[in-house]
Amino acid sequence: MLQDLTLGALDNQYRHRLPEEGDKVICVRGGSIMVARDKRDALTLPTVEQVLAWSGEWDHWHEETLRYIFTLQDEHYFLWMGEAGESGEEAFAYEPARTLRQITSKHVCFAAMTAFHLFCWYRDNRFCGRCGTETVHDEKERMMRCPHCGNMIFPRISPAVIIAVTDGDRLILIKYAGRAYANYGLVAGFIEIGETAEEAVAREVMEEVGLKVKNIRYYKSQPWGIAGNLSLGYFCDLDGDDTIHLDEEELSLAEWHRRDAMPCEDDGISLTREMVRVFCEGNEPK
Ligand SMILES: [Zn+2]
Repeated sequence: MLQDLTLGALDNQYRHRLPEEGDKVICVRGGSIMVARDKRDALTLPTVEQVLAWSGEWDHWHEETLRYIFTLQDEHYFLWMGEAGESGEEAFAYEPARTLRQITSKHVCFAAMTAFHLFCWYRDNRFCGRCGTETVHDEKERMMRCPHCGNMIFPRISPAVIIAVTDGDRLILIKYAGRAYANYGLVAGFIEIGETAEEAVAREVMEEVGLKVKNIRYYKSQPWGIAGNLSLGYFCDLDGDDTIHLDEEELSLAEWHRRDAMPCEDDGISLTREMVRVFCEGNEPK
């Protein structure tokens, strides 16, 4: 999976760090992020010196506009919180966040998706949702604080479940309705307030494909920054009738596929694809 990095994990402890030449910067505009394509079509992120040159703020940037967020494999990443202007360089362009999956370097891809999640959280919490006052960053940890009413705003992560519904040698694959990403997936959905993850599994399967399930067991989790999620992967067994009743508002397709004739492979990125592979190999938790 994307976050399975061999050369060291993400160090995202909150710190005050000054930018240095070569540090990477995430610039976001709407749902898009600034990237460059090199001659081999590989995607890269701009550096601190490039962004400061474009923005004309070389000498007077400050922590509110260029914010250190984390270190990954000895590379420091910053968020550009100023005006998201054009680069002026032909190689660079804003591309939709889902394009980040195409970044060939796995650690840069993971860093960019995680940085996008943090950017969205900072952008959406500039004002207190309780009293409307402009918020300030806490000195010691990653938290926005309201100086008027004391509201403390921590990074928001939305828990979701990804569900492999199995029946012996068969697994349900789905396709979402009306989405640009038209590949096969697994049944999935957000956990509601007041619900356990296991309850969300049973509810989502009933809502999306109209089936009862049992023996719900946890597999692994995955942070998925471009959607602000933490995905929890579960396997479960069909309980009773196997007739699929499709939720046509959510899905365009849901069908049983045999273990030895699966139409999609592990992409090395997503928990969904890893779960399909693990099922094909017969190594799912029993
Ligand atoms: Zn407030």
